[in-house]
Amino acid sequence: MDLLQKLSLLGAAAKYDVCAASGCSSGGRSGLPSPGSGVCHSFLPDGRCISLFKVLQTNSCQKDCFYCPNRIQRDIPRASFTPDELAVLFLEFYHRNYVEGLFLSSGICKSPGHTMEQIIKTAEILRYKYRFNGYIHLKVVPGAKPEYIEQAVRLASRVSVNIEAPTADYLQKLSRLKDFEDGIINRMKWIKRLQSGGLLPAGQTTQFIVGAAGESDASILKTTSGLYQGIGLKRVYFSAFQPVAGTPLEGMPPAAVLREHRLYQCDFLFRLYGFKLSDISFNSEGNLPEDIDPKLNYALNNSHLFPLEVNRASYRELLKVPGIGPASARRIVNARKKFKFNTLDELKNTGVVVKRAAPFVQVNGRYRESYKLVQQLELWRDSVDHSALRQPRVISQGSHALSLV
Ligand code: SF4
Repeated sequence: MDLLQKLSLLGAAAKYDVCAASGCSSGGRSGLPSPGSGVCHSFLPDGRCISLFKVLQTNSCQKDCFYCPNRIQRDIPRASFTPDELAVLFLEFYHRNYVEGLFLSSGICKSPGHTMEQIIKTAEILRYKYRFNGYIHLKVVPGAKPEYIEQAVRLASRVSVNIEAPTADYLQKLSRLKDFEDGIINRMKWIKRLQSGGLLPAGQTTQFIVGAAGESDASILKTTSGLYQGIGLKRVYFSAFQPVAGTPLEGMPPAAVLREHRLYQCDFLFRLYGFKLSDISFNSEGNLPEDIDPKLNYALNNSHLFPLEVNRASYRELLKVPGIGPASARRIVNARKKFKFNTLDELKNTGVVVKRAAPFVQVNGRYRESYKLVQQLELWRDSVDHSALRQPRVISQGSHALSLV
């Protein structure tokens, strides 16, 4: 198989990734195809968004994950890049300004050690031979040995081990060969220890497949919260399960994108708004209610905390108000050093979404007293039309080799 055929096969694997939907390059130039659907985006620590060439070192895999298009039993064309081939190909795209960084993942070919050697060799060629100093995200495959993890951490801007499921029991429903505690959680802990030496500027991430193992949102968020607090992960990603033909889970119903969306909303509340797991409300099945934003649900379930006086509330308290985010809360706190807020219009200037915040705040003692009305009429049940999000994605995804950035 020549290089372009490999690119076509291993770059096309990225189509299974929702991240690739955020933007694709079109048509190639100079006889070289663009990375096309293998382009996805990531945010650097400084907040800048960059485009990444997302590709697999190989789609050969010895594992049998029940949801994955690359599982060993599936009869599909297989290909592998050599480290030299992949490094040169990436640099071609990089020099043409198609991409600014690399996200390199892989199926587990022969053994976790052999796979890590190939991934590390590709990164070494880029870093040492071609002096590439830009963004590299390397996948650490489950079960990788400490020496490989250490090398990956030294070479990469970010690494990730995908957790896939919230507990060992749920993971067993997705794979007979992956070991939750030792193969995944312990590897994350090793990465954390290595990171403390100032390595990995973009941190460590992971991904769940949502809805493939019958797990609840509460179980996913409990583990998510533990990963942030205990292991210091930079980001946790959620990928709504979509069945892939020819896999054991092909008959399972797909997960709605709305479920993924609600999980991301909670993830933002954990990371940026100071919410704890105990602040999140679940239904009797342990899932997030579909029809209400989790932050609004918190406010409605904690009526004793509201309305908050915006001239006195702390930054942390302001973050609990629907319609007030970190930037607007900061602006309110800073503005209060010079003057007192007297009207809702003045709040608008700080970026507050007044329509959402008004029932939950007092402004210099004045309160619109619409909170009870909100509760009675449920006016704040999510007014956004989520009908599209209730549908599954058209394309399938769900492999550690096809994961989000
Ligand atoms: S999820 Fe990863 S380890 Fe499992 S079959 Fe797919 S590529 Fe292999």
